[in-house]
Amino acid sequence: MATRASRRGSGGGAGAMDDGANLTFETSPGVEVVGSFDQMGIRDDLLRGIYAYGLEKPSAVQQRAVLPIIGGRDLIAQAQSGTGKTSMISLAVCQVVDTTVREVQALILSPTRELATQTEKLMQAIGQFMSVQVHACVGGNANSIGEDIRKLEHGVHAVSGTPGRVRDMIKRGTLRTRSIKLLVLDEADEMLRQGFKEQMYEIYRYLPAELQVVLVSATLPNDILEITSKFMTDPVRILVKRDELTSEGIKQFFVAVEKEEWKFETLCDLYDTLTITQAVIFCNTKRKVDWLTERMRTNNFTVSAMHGDMPQKERDAIMADFRSGATRVLITTDMWARGLDVQQVSLVVNYDLPNNRELYIHRIGRSGRFGRKGVVINFVRKEDICILRDIEQFYSTQIDEMPMNVADLI
Ligand code: ADP
Repeated sequence: MATRASRRGSGGGAGAMDDGANLTFETSPGVEVVGSFDQMGIRDDLLRGIYAYGLEKPSAVQQRAVLPIIGGRDLIAQAQSGTGKTSMISLAVCQVVDTTVREVQALILSPTRELATQTEKLMQAIGQFMSVQVHACVGGNANSIGEDIRKLEHGVHAVSGTPGRVRDMIKRGTLRTRSIKLLVLDEADEMLRQGFKEQMYEIYRYLPAELQVVLVSATLPNDILEITSKFMTDPVRILVKRDELTSEGIKQFFVAVEKEEWKFETLCDLYDTLTITQAVIFCNTKRKVDWLTERMRTNNFTVSAMHGDMPQKERDAIMADFRSGATRVLITTDMWARGLDVQQVSLVVNYDLPNNRELYIHRIGRSGRFGRKGVVINFVRKEDICILRDIEQFYSTQIDEMPMNVADLI
């Protein structure tokens, strides 16, 4: 491991803002690069919201993708985690809806309730001066069905949801689709994979024929790109080469733990490092999350935990505590791998290596948001060495042995 020199060296400097500006995009011909939000023809009240929210200059992907989306083009956009894709969707949706018409005009689908809710909140924040009505349509508890019905019947301009609940609301006739003109799939490769695909096609069948489709993700493998021709028309493509997907600002390390049994002690040794800012620890199963959480607590370490089998109320409370910084160490599954944005997370630990290459990119992208520094520590058993090598090679990246002073890098 760590035998391959990083293609881009170690330049950039600690804390250098890396909003993806150094990326080489493979873009469709004719895609303009627009360097400021002012020049994008965005309505004034939305522009005010964008600046009030703290977005000053568009990131690399935003500079390329906002204009085609608000111009009505189908679009496929790929860029590193944390470079503003979800923010871009949110602002583009606010721009394209007509707030004088109280009907759902844009539908954003995301793989987890937490991400769908995060996007809802983002749209409400940047759309605060334009009275945009947005609703998160997510599963979880029986009461929220009534809330969905009430909100949707009252009339909203955009819905951000998870496929199961959105499909149910459409089938009930509560979510009326006749005015939907824009469908966005965030984490599109996940949304088009087995598990969600059926629900996606079902929803798609209810949508008007004249539909603009936008797909975004940090990872868009070829098999996914191939199926997009079935439901997209001449899409604008903004893609990043896979060897540029790992951000320079995120330092990746491994610890050779040899055996599964030695992972626990390694994690305990790292605990002080975990709490320097905030850390997310990934396990591959819910059972393992429960087990590890219990064991850490028994050993007097403070940790919180979250996975998909927990009641939604509990998930929401854990998420809120982690977002506020009240808790600092979160043990979780891949439900947390995609899209979630907590800027203070600067450390990701792969207690278990992920089951596929895409998940690695998404997991590490929970740290180093919008050019911040990030550190990733991979626990590697003997039998995992080949998986780590494969990741290094596939993304032309470098994963060194964890140095003693890793805490200084956070
Ligand atoms: P992605 O979807 O690519 O992972 P997000 O849209 O979640 O990225 O953005 C990551 C973080 O960067 C968020 O905290 C967001 O507020 C911030 N951000 C996004 N765009 C900008 C911008 N143009 N300027 C400053 N910060 C931004």
